[in-house]
Amino acid sequence: MGLMKSWVRSANAAAAPFPLNNLPYGVFSAAGAPPRCGVAIGDRILDLAACERAGLVRAGGALTGDSWNAFMAQGMAEWTALRARLTALLAEDSAERGAVEPFLVAQSGAVMHLPIRVAEYTDFYSGRHHATNVGTMFRGAENALPPNWLHIPIAYNGRASSVVVSGTDIRRPWGQIKGRDDAQPRFAPSARFDIELEMGAIVGMPSTGPITVAEADAHLFGYVLLNDWSARDIQGWEYQPLGPFQAKATATSISPWIVTAAALAPFRCDPPAREVALLDHLKDDGPMLFDIDLSVTLAPKGQPASTITRTNYNEMYYSAAQQLAHHTTSGCPMRTGDLLGSGTISGPERGNRGSLLELCWGGKEPLTLDTGETRRFIEDGDTLTLTGAARGSGYTIGFGECTGTVLPAHPDPYARKTR
Ligand code: CA
Repeated sequence: MGLMKSWVRSANAAAAPFPLNNLPYGVFSAAGAPPRCGVAIGDRILDLAACERAGLVRAGGALTGDSWNAFMAQGMAEWTALRARLTALLAEDSAERGAVEPFLVAQSGAVMHLPIRVAEYTDFYSGRHHATNVGTMFRGAENALPPNWLHIPIAYNGRASSVVVSGTDIRRPWGQIKGRDDAQPRFAPSARFDIELEMGAIVGMPSTGPITVAEADAHLFGYVLLNDWSARDIQGWEYQPLGPFQAKATATSISPWIVTAAALAPFRCDPPAREVALLDHLKDDGPMLFDIDLSVTLAPKGQPASTITRTNYNEMYYSAAQQLAHHTTSGCPMRTGDLLGSGTISGPERGNRGSLLELCWGGKEPLTLDTGETRRFIEDGDTLTLTGAARGSGYTIGFGECTGTVLPAHPDPYARKTR
């Protein structure tokens, strides 16, 4: 399948991120109106709340709210029906162009909001190159992968409250940091603040007990870019034995457009060969990873951006479907709007690593930017931007951007309180 043409002409270029093949869902506001659901087409947004009120689409009123949760909870049949209806309305030969056109809004004049009400947020650790790199740095090459790693997708429960939309500034956190010896930590701004390049999978259909990998795949509504901002010095002191806590609680940025599983169907790919067989309940059940090119740029304040890494979502060891299936094995209920971070996505070479921790090998090998500046970790004023795109024959399924600028830490937040 090649490019599907739309009467919105900006959607028809081979490199345009939002062609008719994509139709990603977001929540936007424009011209002083409250946030509502929209779909991106070319450089426009189709106001779906207005379309539903005008009777052009039917979703039981689910598109007039300020999140996609009500629609996601309706399930696959409704997801398929809306996508088919929007495809017909926006296709080059649509007879309803005249009725639809008044509801288009320029993306350049819109403010994007979180597309979902994040119910809960879980972050996995399912990139093998990342886990191997980090394990080698902290435990040595022989013990890089923990013994459970090839059997379960390891994760921690994150904070839904930390999730922010792309474009939100990120304040450098304070935290407790290991001192010269373990006995004397100090409280200070993080000096090793970092990114993690990830994809986020969004649970559309809720579940109340264990589900299979195939069922889990059908419960997933779509995918976003995700940056798990990480304070490495806080993490290094706090993480044993229960895992990351405040190091990951400052913020988690996601891109504003949900690219649906349906739009990504042509880009499904097989998981890697299994070095050890997975237990039956996690066994691969078809191509559930996706071929999505990913990259990160770093722009020092007032300066041009340098690309610091390029990788691909197909580097994952576990698919989001396997992560979701594993998440339910205990009977853990899953909700509409649950967000699953993939884990940092690194490739095999230095130029494919998804965090500064790995790119600079714990600070030992500084990165030189195009501007000549060097970086070990993020400096104040730096803007970090994730981008992603699946590339078809003559068309692109773009994710847009997931960006954030790091602001200097506030003055000591406890100075006045404790004197
Ligand atoms: Ca992470």
